[in-house]
Amino acid sequence: MNGSAPLVRLQQVCKRYGDQVALVDVDLDIFNGEFVTILGPSGCGKTTLLRLVAGFEPVSSGRIQLNGRDVAGLPPEKREVNTVFQSYALFPHMTVFDNVAFGLRMRGQAPEEIQRRVGDALSLVQLTGFEARRPHQLSGGQQQRVAVARAIVNRPLVLLLDEPLSALDYRLRKQMQLDLKHLQRRLGITFILVTHDQEEAFSMSDRVVVLNAGRIEQAGPPNEVYEQPRNLYVARFVGEINLLDGLVDRVEGERVVLRIDHLNVRVKSNRTFAPSDRVHVLLRPEDLRVETLKDLADNPALKNSFADGGYFLGTVQETIYKGATYDVAVLLDNGRPIMATEFFNAEDATVYFRPGDRVAVSWIEGWEVLLPHEG
Ligand code: ADP
Ligand code: MG
Repeated sequence: MNGSAPLVRLQQVCKRYGDQVALVDVDLDIFNGEFVTILGPSGCGKTTLLRLVAGFEPVSSGRIQLNGRDVAGLPPEKREVNTVFQSYALFPHMTVFDNVAFGLRMRGQAPEEIQRRVGDALSLVQLTGFEARRPHQLSGGQQQRVAVARAIVNRPLVLLLDEPLSALDYRLRKQMQLDLKHLQRRLGITFILVTHDQEEAFSMSDRVVVLNAGRIEQAGPPNEVYEQPRNLYVARFVGEINLLDGLVDRVEGERVVLRIDHLNVRVKSNRTFAPSDRVHVLLRPEDLRVETLKDLADNPALKNSFADGGYFLGTVQETIYKGATYDVAVLLDNGRPIMATEFFNAEDATVYFRPGDRVAVSWIEGWEVLLPHEG
C-alpha cells in the first residue's frame, strides 16, 4: 500500500451551497483495498464528500482524482464508483433479482452474464434463494444486503456507503458491521463508509477520518485516533474523556513536569512544551486508578504502587454497572468530575465502590495525553 499511488485523491476540495460551506480544504488519499470511515456528527459534510467522489455534485474548488485520473466533469456512470444510500433506494416494484440486475441491463450486458453476476453478488451477501422477492417482503437487514449486492455487482473500484446501517436495530447493526468488513476483505474493493457512530467506525475500518464542520481534524488508524487524539475535538468525539488542566513547570528530556493543583506530575509527551505553558491532560476512563483511602491506609504496598507524583482526593458520587465493567463517577475535591472504568475481579463480580467513599485517584503512568490548552 505504501509507495503506491492513491486510488482516490482529494486535494484542497471545497464545497459551498450558496452561503453554506459544506467542505473546506479537504486533503485525503485513499489507497486500493482500504476500508476508510468518515466519522463526524450530523451536518459535518460526510454525505457531501461521498457525493463529490461519486460525481453527483461538482466541487466548488479543488481536485478529485480516481485511479490517477482527474474526474472533473466525469458523470457518475463513467466513474468506477458505486454508492449504497442511507435509504437503500431499492425499486419497490422490482424483484430482488431485477434490482441487482438493473445496472447491468442498463449497460446492455448479455443475459447469461447478468445471470452469473447477479447470482455471485447475491451469494456474497447471503441472499441466494431470495431472487423473486420484492423489497417489502424482506427485513431491513435483507433490504440493506440487496442494496450492497446491487452496488458491487459490476465490481466498482470504490464502494461508497452512506450510513448504511443506521436504520437497523443494535444487534443487527453489530452483525452487519462484521459482515460488511468480511465482504470488503473478500472482494478487495476499497470501501469508504460514512457514519456518526464512533464504535462502528473503529470496529470496521483500517483508517478513520474525523470530520468536523467540513474540515478533517485527524485521519489515522482507529487506535491512533483514540490514543493520540490531535486536539480536544477529536478526543471528545471518540469516546469518553477526562480533562485536567496543568501548567508546565519544567521539561526534562522526553518528560514534562506539570503542576496540577497541588501535585507535581511527571508525564511523557511527544510534543514540545516550554515552562509556564498551559496544557490539558487527557485521560480515558480506563486509564484511571481509583482506590479507597481506607485501602491505602491499610495497605502500604498499594499506596507505594500509586504514581510517585501523588494522587487526587475525591468522593464517589455513583457507580454505573455496564455488564463486563462498571463506571465510577468521582467528584474530585478540586471540583472536577471524573469518570473511571473499573474491571471486576475474576472471582468477584460485585461493584467495589459505594457512593460517599473517600478515594484517591491517579492514573497509569504514560497513558496520559498532553495537549496545548485550547481557548
Ligand atoms: P452529513 O452527511 O455529515 O450529515 P451533509 O454533507 O449532508 O452532512 O451536509 C453538510 C452541510 O451542507 C449541512 O450544513 C447541510 O445543511 C448542507 N447541505 C447539504 N446539501 C445541501 C444542499 N443541496 N443545499 C444546501 N445545503 C446543503
Ligand atoms: Mg449524511
